[in-house]
Amino acid sequence: MGGTFDPIHYGHLLAAEEARFRFNLSRVIFVPCGTPPHKKPYKVTPAEHRYAMTVLATASNPYFVVSRIEIDRPGPSYAIDTVKIFRQQFGYGVEIFFITGLDAVLEILTWKNHDELIQLCQFIAVNRPGYDSEKLREHLPPSYLDRISLLSIPGIDISSTMIRERVRKNEPILYLTPETVCDYIAKHGLYK
Ligand code: ATP
Ligand code: MG
Repeated sequence: MGGTFDPIHYGHLLAAEEARFRFNLSRVIFVPCGTPPHKKPYKVTPAEHRYAMTVLATASNPYFVVSRIEIDRPGPSYAIDTVKIFRQQFGYGVEIFFITGLDAVLEILTWKNHDELIQLCQFIAVNRPGYDSEKLREHLPPSYLDRISLLSIPGIDISSTMIRERVRKNEPILYLTPETVCDYIAKHGLYK
């Protein structure tokens, strides 16, 4: 599961856990991006902070691990480069699923080498409030749809953007993300 995780929140965690359970995954690898290739409209928090928060949030789940692969790789983080390395590491006997929210998979045609990526791994797309799964059929060719499984989860209307905004306005973020992440944000004065 790739993302900016700025910060990680319960939407990410629920999506990952539901995917793990429904698809019987042996492991979920969270991959915080180094430099997001699609320019974000705000200054992304240094990768080490995003990595640390992702580790804190996932530590108690025995199936969850966090990879530094994109953080340690210089230049923009492209999913294709990461999945190719995982494919090499794990071999062809291992199935790789890319877990995303609907909003992310709807943009897949803008990703680097998306035609190669969609062959290299299957996609699990979870619903996200505000995004309609019907749009997938309008946006993506059938050969792509064959590689994407929709996974229905209890909709979680939380985004990292919302959490950053709430911190900036001195509003609480407890119960939107794990307490360890709330404490880390406060300790380092992030998003002020
Ligand atoms: P931002 O508001 O900064 O874009 P975000 O909450 O969208 O943050 P990302 O790090 O951009 O989080 O998302 C990483 C992945 O998690 C994407 O595939 C995204 O679709 C998915 N995701 C994020 N939040 C949710 C949510 N609430 N429900 C389902 N999927 C989500
Ligand atoms: Mg996002």
